[in-house]
Amino acid sequence: MSTNGTSQTYEKLTKRIREYQTLGACGSLLSWDEHTIMPQKGAEFRSEQLSLIAGMVHERSTAPEIGDLLGELQNSDLATRPEAPEAVNIREVSREFQKGRKLSKEFVEELTLVTSQGQHAWKKAREKKDFSLFLPYLEKVIALKIKQAETYGYEQDRYDALIDDYEPGATFESVGKVFAGFREELTPFLKAIQDSGKKPKREIIERHFPVGAQETFATGAAKAIGFDFKAGRLDVTTHPFCSGIGPGDTRITTRYNPNHFPDAFFGALHEAGHGIYEQGLDTSYFGLPMGQAVSLGIHESQSRLWENLVGRSKAFWKRFYPDAQRYFPQALSAVALDDFYWAVNDVRPSFIRVEADEVTYNLHIILRFEMERALINEEISAADIPAVWNEKFTSFFGITPPDDSLGCMQDVHWSAGLMGYFPTYALGNLYAAQFFAKALEDLPNMYENFAKGEFGELKKWLNENIHAHGQRYPAEKLVELVTGKPLSHAPEMKYLNEKYGPLYGI
Ligand SMILES: [Zn+2]
Repeated sequence: MSTNGTSQTYEKLTKRIREYQTLGACGSLLSWDEHTIMPQKGAEFRSEQLSLIAGMVHERSTAPEIGDLLGELQNSDLATRPEAPEAVNIREVSREFQKGRKLSKEFVEELTLVTSQGQHAWKKAREKKDFSLFLPYLEKVIALKIKQAETYGYEQDRYDALIDDYEPGATFESVGKVFAGFREELTPFLKAIQDSGKKPKREIIERHFPVGAQETFATGAAKAIGFDFKAGRLDVTTHPFCSGIGPGDTRITTRYNPNHFPDAFFGALHEAGHGIYEQGLDTSYFGLPMGQAVSLGIHESQSRLWENLVGRSKAFWKRFYPDAQRYFPQALSAVALDDFYWAVNDVRPSFIRVEADEVTYNLHIILRFEMERALINEEISAADIPAVWNEKFTSFFGITPPDDSLGCMQDVHWSAGLMGYFPTYALGNLYAAQFFAKALEDLPNMYENFAKGEFGELKKWLNENIHAHGQRYPAEKLVELVTGKPLSHAPEMKYLNEKYGPLYGI
């Protein structure tokens, strides 16, 4: 094909992709609305609207014409330089297209229905603390996920086919190897913290923090770290999320608890971190892989980095603590910075993942990772979950959940068919620590600048080294290119040691 013909074909392809991605963005906006301000009675019609759009997007993104255009482009000049934007777009769209085409419309519909019923049953069962109400639904979801993995196909482990939806290229073996080394160091580290007998004054952050002041304070901090409020909003929801609707429009959410300071504040910083990634993507590539996030793990690295490595650092609070004391005089005016800093960095085993600290959080994930892999490989069945969960939990944390709502039924993921998703949370922590260590090498005055309220150089570093690439490199390669080393648990352990060693005298 002539070069001219090739570029016309490429234009045709990108036009079609942008069209269905724009349609998808309309769905994202409806979904944001559903979770923030939609009146309760609108729920049923909203499901209809969303499923109509999802069906249209699926149809358009797997249309045979897309396959024809990709077929023409795959062997063209445009695909020869693998890192050129056009080649990246052709490669990644093909990958998604091939996967999407493997699933029949009937399968997608069945999965949507079963997971929707599954989530409903999960909610009820969790409230009643009765796993048996959830079991028949979960069995159906797992059977469909096994079918999905078999339809996708895999080389080594059935679970690999599912992780790939969230962390392209990752496998049970590659992730398992990193997690195993991590856990080996993490477990004795946690034990040393517990054995130290030291504990912060946790009640400091459980005092009364008026919601209005929390909102102003959190908004100010999100703005200070670089979330652009002219291209985004912060609203209230029950389960915080970030949605990159499209160019110039990124929505983040948080929730306020007047008697627990960390929920809203760190939730807002976390989602702002996701938002800064979305806002850092190249808008000229909207809808195309060059303008999209690499993987869920890399996305999570951006949120964890701002939430924890920045937002829970001493330097950050040197700048923000005087403000916090002004906003919450009743709770904090008589509290020293060091006591507050330790209270927001309290490490102790607890049952609930989303409330876990930086150290124990990773163990919550490793437990889920091992379990869901065993489920997908039919080494354990859905009925075994409560017993296996409690046994593992006790061996990981030394405490046993008193009921399944505080144990195996706490997360929505499995009911929603999100299997292979959990590992991306801990991968996010590991990527974050590895990126941050490299940023600190490149920007040696970073902490001093945090203490002055200056975060721009770190944001710029992330924009240039990570965000600007879109999906040019797979996650594994991106980490290596940016930091010079393959992914490892070593930077995270070093960070945890340096931070928590002095707090707990270990
Ligand atoms: Zn997140």
